[in-house]
Amino acid sequence: MSLGGQQVWDVAVIGGGAAGMMAAGRAAEGGARVILLEKNPGLGKKLLITGGGRCNVTNAEFDTKTLLSKYGDAGKYLSSPFAAWSSKDAIGFFESRGMPTKIENEKRAFPVSDTAQSVHNVLTSYMKEGGVTVHTKSPVSGFIREGNSIVSAKLKDGTLIDARSFILATGGKSRPETGSTGDGFVWLQELGHTVSSATAALVPISVHDAWVKRAAGVSLKDAKITLFQYEKKVKSVRGKVLITHEGLSGPAILNASREIGEFLQYGDLVIDLDLFPDLGYEKVNTRLQEIFNENATKMLKNSLKGFLQPVLIPVVLQLALIDAQKTCNAVSRDERVRLMKLVKHVPLSVKGLLGLDKAIITSGGVSLDEVDTRYMQSRLISNLYLVGDVLDVNRPSGGYSLQLCWTTGRIAGESAYTAGT
Ligand SMILES: Cc1cc2nc3c(=O)[nH]c(=O)nc-3n(C[C@H](O)[C@H](O)[C@H](O)COP(=O)(O)OP(=O)(O)OC[C@H]3O[C@@H](n4cnc5c(N)ncnc54)[C@H](O)[C@@H]3O)c2cc1C
Repeated sequence: MSLGGQQVWDVAVIGGGAAGMMAAGRAAEGGARVILLEKNPGLGKKLLITGGGRCNVTNAEFDTKTLLSKYGDAGKYLSSPFAAWSSKDAIGFFESRGMPTKIENEKRAFPVSDTAQSVHNVLTSYMKEGGVTVHTKSPVSGFIREGNSIVSAKLKDGTLIDARSFILATGGKSRPETGSTGDGFVWLQELGHTVSSATAALVPISVHDAWVKRAAGVSLKDAKITLFQYEKKVKSVRGKVLITHEGLSGPAILNASREIGEFLQYGDLVIDLDLFPDLGYEKVNTRLQEIFNENATKMLKNSLKGFLQPVLIPVVLQLALIDAQKTCNAVSRDERVRLMKLVKHVPLSVKGLLGLDKAIITSGGVSLDEVDTRYMQSRLISNLYLVGDVLDVNRPSGGYSLQLCWTTGRIAGESAYTAGT
């Protein structure tokens, strides 16, 4: 049984996330008859939650060599697709379609609208322009193969979708409620591909310290995290840190999470959180003295508002064993020193990494050894193209994941329509 009355599509895209939408749009732009199959009722469920709903759409690192260095070992495989279509092209693509962008810290690019919906809108209208046929609520259950090529994608209800080329864009395994449940990994293994096991990467951490619950939601724009194992400093990172109900998140933590996971295999990890990385003891002490002098008869908990975020004040005072109700002129020298030391060294003890349900991306996926990255084409199955989170590519947070989707989607879309038409 074929779908949509069309016997053989030029290109069938499986998965309607960021990479699948870009690939489908590009193939259709080239003139291919394209069908996109998505199991969810709507497209781009994960895309809509990216960047806290604002979507860090790419990284405005325009030096391709530097950009590629962010993808670690995979960088060497990605030089061809990124030479053809990189972050500058992605920004140009979105801007030319009516979505202005702005660049924030660490060259993170966001839509000016501050909403991921704008990115989604551009991609859906791009697909519409090219006449992509979109079938949502269409879960694929596998491929039908003949020799070293695929002839059909099989839907769960038994419907066969015949196409000349197939683009696999089913994502990884992080945040499975968005639809990324690793289905593509199973099919790829059945087709003979090597798929390294998907584990959480770029993932928040949980801590043993119960006080984080009370400070959940606090965003520290610039904090320093130093990790100790067996009393030896093992790593230090600096940047934005978020306090969550379970522990810590934010770019600085996410980017260090892989190493944190590795350290945890060898023993307990203790965090030393510096809330004022630019200020030494002296400066913090002077600042506290000024605050206490200016607010001598005011309660301590009401005097620290310009110094610490309000939610943090009772937590920090409790950790420093200082009565929040006392007036500033009643704070002893010892107490002030304790407070000074505490804000420079908030102690936390790492419980572990959170799981796939909280991860930004999964590590693992199809080895790039098995993909001809000039075309994003499988080296085993001649008419299969692989894009986005399906690929085994490690990268930090900062827009690099979506750029991987845009570049690989673009190249696969182009290659598939050339091959499929
Ligand atoms: C909370 C969060 C925030 C993030 N923020 C950012 C950010 O700001 N910037 C950034 O660069 N990256 C960010 N990322 C990472 C980024 O979202 C992913 O790398 C990217 O969305 C992957 O896109 P994809 O198209 O490869 O896969 P997905 O977005 O996972 O899409 C795969 C699609 O395939 C569908 N599918 C799966 N199986 C089947 C099947 N059997 N049949 C049919 N359809 C199927 C799924 O339903 C899904 O729609 C974030 C990730 C998370 C979880």
